[in-house]
Amino acid sequence: MTASATSAGVPSRPRRCQRGGSGRAEPGSSRGRRSPRLASGRVSRVGFAWRVALHPRGIPVRIVVFGPPGGGKGTQVDRIKGDAGAVAIAPGDLLRQAVAEGTPAGRRAQDFMRRGELVPDEVVIDLIRERAEAPEVRRGYILDGFPRTMVQLEAAERFLGEAGMVPDAWLFIDVPESVIEERILGRRTCTSCQASWHVTFNPSPRGEQCGRCGGELGRRADDAPDKLRTRLEAYRRDTVPVIDHLRAQGRLRTVEAGTLGPDAVERLVRSALGLDPPPPKVA
Ligand SMILES: [Zn+2]
Repeated sequence: MTASATSAGVPSRPRRCQRGGSGRAEPGSSRGRRSPRLASGRVSRVGFAWRVALHPRGIPVRIVVFGPPGGGKGTQVDRIKGDAGAVAIAPGDLLRQAVAEGTPAGRRAQDFMRRGELVPDEVVIDLIRERAEAPEVRRGYILDGFPRTMVQLEAAERFLGEAGMVPDAWLFIDVPESVIEERILGRRTCTSCQASWHVTFNPSPRGEQCGRCGGELGRRADDAPDKLRTRLEAYRRDTVPVIDHLRAQGRLRTVEAGTLGPDAVERLVRSALGLDPPPPKVA
């Protein structure tokens, strides 16, 4: 499918294919942690693996992360982006930034937001496309929260393909909804220092007050039960089809996060992407 698009803009030599046809580290070279399923999932890309932007060590640097709202993918993106040498791109942040800077897409988005409407696919797509033109993004990106719909996926594949920036890893961090509800509904945020606590998993040592600054603890507007339900519904309706589609094509790497904490999930995420394990924590 992408083969026809490859003839334009072919670099004079394959830049990062020093590890042979697959463009990836051989199984076993990364302490044998790569699962055979992942390795075989790459076989179909052999012919044009040179287009895949791999880190010199053969790890992916153009990554798309999926997961339910409140499933902790933002946390994981923060933890791995340095190692992947990639710029994290989240539509929500871009939206706020574009509105503040008054870019064309930002001005369009603002009209919808003023009316309290969802920002439509084409505006979100324009925003991501604008951002993807930045030189630092060309070197590597982690998309978090985009593509959120099938329309966005089709557009993303088109414009990223045309720019020679196709993702080299689609990662799904799967967390059951029951786990998300417990996590989000128990979350408490400090109204003064924004520190995050959880009534069960990370209680503030000062009870109803922030353990860091003593401030009042509250619930973020986004964490209210009805808001969470709306976000989960939108995810099921719009994003699960995208995930199913990529899985059916054998392009998805899945991390079963279940009830695991962020450190354990990080190890799985790094393994799925072929990144080094996290540095040991100093006790
Ligand atoms: Zn505080």
